[in-house]
Amino acid sequence: MPAIDTNSLEDLSDTATGRIVSGGELRRRLQQILASAKRLGSVHAVGLIEIEPDTPPRVLRRIVTSMCRRIRQSDTLAELDDNRYGLILHHCPLDNAVGVARSLLATIRTGTDDDTGGQGEADVCRAVIGLVPFSAETSNTYQLLDHGRRACTEAWALGGDRVQVFQSEGGDRARKEHQLQRAAELSQAIEGDHLLLYGQEIVPLKPDLPRHIEVLMRMPDGEGGVIRPAAFVLAAERYGIADRLDQWVVNKVLASYRRLFGDSGVGVTINLSAKSIGDDKLLDLVRRHDVPAERVCFEITETAAIRDLESARAFIDALRQLGCRFALDDFGSGHASFLYLKELEVDYLKIDQGFVRDVLEQDFDLAMVAAVNKIGQVLGIRVIAEGVENHDILKRIRDVGLDYAQGYVHGLPSPLEDLAKLRRRAQLV
Ligand code: C2E
Ligand code: CA
Ligand code: CA
Repeated sequence: MPAIDTNSLEDLSDTATGRIVSGGELRRRLQQILASAKRLGSVHAVGLIEIEPDTPPRVLRRIVTSMCRRIRQSDTLAELDDNRYGLILHHCPLDNAVGVARSLLATIRTGTDDDTGGQGEADVCRAVIGLVPFSAETSNTYQLLDHGRRACTEAWALGGDRVQVFQSEGGDRARKEHQLQRAAELSQAIEGDHLLLYGQEIVPLKPDLPRHIEVLMRMPDGEGGVIRPAAFVLAAERYGIADRLDQWVVNKVLASYRRLFGDSGVGVTINLSAKSIGDDKLLDLVRRHDVPAERVCFEITETAAIRDLESARAFIDALRQLGCRFALDDFGSGHASFLYLKELEVDYLKIDQGFVRDVLEQDFDLAMVAAVNKIGQVLGIRVIAEGVENHDILKRIRDVGLDYAQGYVHGLPSPLEDLAKLRRRAQLV
């Protein structure tokens, strides 16, 4: 990174930024706070702020002034080295620290403090903040700053313009690095619009039920193949990019629905990760695109929904008011499944593959499938068996009376474009 304007500290000292301290002073204060944390058991946070290298010095000065205004008197902001700043949030639990860091990031993004009249609106600049909570267990200040630096590196790898909380490796560094790499690749693929939409048919087992296609996303592997989501969905959740991923998928599917499916009445079902439940951007996307909302179904897992039942319910209600449908995915694999069914208004239940796979050999699994089907009938919810791999299983599922089957027996997931073509051809004959 290029060096900051050599006059910057003098220039800053006659403004609100008189409070900015040196890196040495930051470490001294950190040591003091760490010692008191060990005595008193208090909780604090350290932040490392990295601003992109080519930010002009005048913009940097304005940013620093704004940041100084936004932190409390008891907090510390220090200039470390090129475009890098250190922050101590004194007596600040992690949730609050994340809130403060996000507001600082918003300040940096516009190059100014909005409260000052927005003179710097034209100077949009990028930054990341690595945040490290600390308390009595933290060993020393060097470790804290190092963790902050590592969180910043992760944040840049994930596309920048974000607050990244440091997560300890828990003794499994290689796995964490692999996940980070996957998340970074995914972030680039979203940014570059390189993800691929695949799909798999959900086939009705009774007359007059509408057809659906579940959208399953894939990432190109750079060698002509594709990577399945199992390899990166977890990483996306862990590194906080699952919401961007879902927005990308929803936007793409809605934008291409008319071209792909016209008036065929085929429904599309889209998987949402836990992070997206409650995301207003998805509501906006559904409103913005000219797609019959009743053809759009969202799949959520009960595990994700019950993390915050209230907001899940409000989210489902809002989208259902627009006409969208909901499916409870992987049903049976979580806990207390039947209990939450009464709490969440859904249109479809998808029985987890784990039960469907063994219906021919395991009486319990067959009983479970039949029980879920019965519950679905009582509640007026259509029931789908996932992971139907062969005709024997399909026959058994049909005998039980399920509404839909999905699985390799009807075909492997394939590009959504190809499935749409097949559908159009089938309608012509
Ligand atoms: P899921 O929602 O339970 O999707 C069903 C998975 O089962 C898919 O794996 C599908 O390819 C696979 N499958 C289909 N038929 C059979 C079968 O007969 N036997 C077996 N053993 N498997 C079958 P896939 O495509 O690898 O997706 C894995 C998971 O990744 C999905 O599980 C879903 O949770 C997630 N996912 C996929 N696409 C998206 C997406 O666009 N957004 C989000 N947030 N998650 C997605
Ligand atoms: Ca699904
Ligand atoms: Ca599933």
